[in-house]
This record gives sequence, C-alpha cells and structure tokens, in this order.
Amino acid sequence: MHKKLTIALVAHDRRKADMVDWAVFNADMLSQHQLICTGTTGGLIKDAFEKKGVEAEIICMNSGPLGGDAEIAALVVRKKINLAVFLIDDLSAQPHEADIQMLLRQCRVHNVPIACNRYSADLMITSTLWDKEDYVPLEPRYVKFNREV
Ligand code: PGA
Repeated sequence: MHKKLTIALVAHDRRKADMVDWAVFNADMLSQHQLICTGTTGGLIKDAFEKKGVEAEIICMNSGPLGGDAEIAALVVRKKINLAVFLIDDLSAQPHEADIQMLLRQCRVHNVPIACNRYSADLMITSTLWDKEDYVPLEPRYVKFNREV
C-alpha cells in the first residue's frame, strides 16, 4: 500500500493480547502509517514495537474509559481517520459502553471502515482499494422505506 493512512487502534483489556499480536504481525505495514490509539493500547503497541526494533508513529489519546474512544470518535467526525481496528470485549460489561457505541456509530455515519476482529482487520489493511485513484466510497444513504406498498 502506498497511501499513508491514519489508523485508529483500540482494544479492550481482554482483547489487548490479540491487538498486540496483530500489530506485531503487521508491524512492517503499520509502521508506514500513522497510528492513533487509546492510551493503554497505544502504550502496549509502542513497547512491543520497541522490542522488535520497529519505528512507528504512534499517538496515544486518553485511556478508553477516560475518554479515549470519544477522542477517536471526534477524529472520525472530522474525517481524520481512514480505518479503525476496534477489538471489543463482547463477553464483559464496559464502564464506557456509551463511548464505545458512539465510536461505532460515528464510523458508520461517516463511512469509516471499522474492523472488530482480526480477520476483518487483515482483510481491510490488505485491500487494494486504498491505492485505487478511481475508487470513490459511496456514502450511506438513508432512504424512506414504505412497508405498506
Ligand atoms: P485503553 O482503552 O487502550 O486505554 O485500555 C481501550 C478501551 O477500553 O476503549
């Protein structure tokens, strides 16, 4: 991929091991992009990259429960994020559920690709569409539907 992307990376506590593993596996590719992470996730990825000698531009926001997801959602609204990888712990309740839903919703509203598992993340980061000049993503349409007719 030639285009430099801004990629948001967020992982809940019980999904952090998976995120670090995924980031290290894709370190060569990720180091060519700007990474914007929630605080703890970003710190762990930084440490793991340092250990492997990988240099990458990693910007850490607040920790998720303290507003990191909300900060990333605001960047989505301002069209500053090209792709988000959000590994959610679907098996535990989160104190910042409202912020999680906000980040997911803003990605949908603003047509930002968001991967919530590693398989989706792998498919998205390897897409050839990123470099296709003539590919224009279509915005979601909200069209009135009349069930009666
Ligand atoms: P963290 O935040 O990376 O600071 O743990 C992630 C989250 O819980 O949304």
